[in-house]
Amino acid sequence: MNVLVVNAGSSSLKYQLFDTAKKLVVAKGLCEKIGIDGPQTIGALTHKNLLNGKEYHADLPMGDHTAAIQYVVDVLLHPEYGCVSSMSEIEAVGHRIVHGGAYFSESVLLTEDVLAKLELCRDLAPLHTGAHIQGIQGCQKVMPGTPQVLVFDTAFHQTMAPEAYMYGLPYETYEKYAIRRYGAHGTSHRYVTGRMLEILGRTENTKIVTCHLGNGSSISAVKDGKVVDTSMGFTPLAGVMMGTRCGDIDPAIVPFLMEKENLSPEEMNTYLNKKCGFLGVSGVSSDCRNISDAIRQGNARAALTLNMFGYQIKKYIGAYAAAMNGLDAIVFTAGIGENTASVRELACTGLEYLGVSFDKEANDHVQRPVGITCLSKPDSRVMVYLIPTNEELVIALDTETIVQALQK
Ligand code: ADP
Repeated sequence: MNVLVVNAGSSSLKYQLFDTAKKLVVAKGLCEKIGIDGPQTIGALTHKNLLNGKEYHADLPMGDHTAAIQYVVDVLLHPEYGCVSSMSEIEAVGHRIVHGGAYFSESVLLTEDVLAKLELCRDLAPLHTGAHIQGIQGCQKVMPGTPQVLVFDTAFHQTMAPEAYMYGLPYETYEKYAIRRYGAHGTSHRYVTGRMLEILGRTENTKIVTCHLGNGSSISAVKDGKVVDTSMGFTPLAGVMMGTRCGDIDPAIVPFLMEKENLSPEEMNTYLNKKCGFLGVSGVSSDCRNISDAIRQGNARAALTLNMFGYQIKKYIGAYAAAMNGLDAIVFTAGIGENTASVRELACTGLEYLGVSFDKEANDHVQRPVGITCLSKPDSRVMVYLIPTNEELVIALDTETIVQALQK
């Protein structure tokens, strides 16, 4: 089945056309600057046909997401750059949705009722949800009749028990505003969990910590294939420090700084989300590659940054081993997890008491392109693995499963 995987952001729209039978991306691209100057906006489309290697770039009027989707469909149908010959060959659309609240614990077919529930999630991730709804409605207009499936970043975490997802706030706050831990990156945690369970050869009686370390980072405790806890919270600001996000801090710092620096709630939010983390501590960059370069040049704050990051990851691994009463495997994935050996080493060194025998040699010599790689010694009680994530594949396969069930 050809599935168009759509990731609609507020001013961008990423897409991949998947051939699910071959588990292959046949084309992919990005629309940028959608609607940033109102209806007259000139946006940009960048597209690549991965079958023939041909690339296409154009600046085009892109006042809204509907216009962007129309260009995507046009380029997919283009005789030279495209890869399908009629619209009907795009058999389904799968949308990446950042927040499904407590409404969605699995991927669903788009219906009026689903769209109404998604509207109710708007408050939880206003920018993202608004963009997703525009992307969905754009697809409805451009491809009427093509089934659409929603795949939620929060869904995999919906198995958490109340003691893991509740905060120590008055219960009424939870009832009134639905403030609780939701987590994020669920599709990635689910994908790497699936691969790790295949390696372990069983689902029952398994205890895995999955570390998705990218620009945003989150760590999950997965017992018997189900999430029991995760580091991100009500929003993706919580957990370990990230590229520009602060991660877990004492909440009293927030009003303290607002008062001292005379910051509005919006300014404080920007500070916590955009000025902190790697960027704020190192003063170098939010990008782990630049931090690693700075460390090689002797920059002490860059070294502090990665030491903090590694330490925080290790604390989560220890906490989650306690939460699950044991540990069978640790998995690293996403941009940093797949590419930065020093972070994996910092996180896994000193976990011998848990049964981790880390293979530094294997960790330092991961082959490229990066594939599934074992980073623990054969006698290690806890397996350590690098597993490249593939969220788009999960979205495409969920979409196929749901749409095929419709056709039966
Ligand atoms: P996002 O959360 O935006 O999807 P990624 O998973 O791509 O982010 O992760 C981005 C982070 O991963 C950056 O800090 C970057 O330095 C690091 N990273 C990505 N690719 C590489 C690479 N090939 N080598 C080293 N670091 C990388």
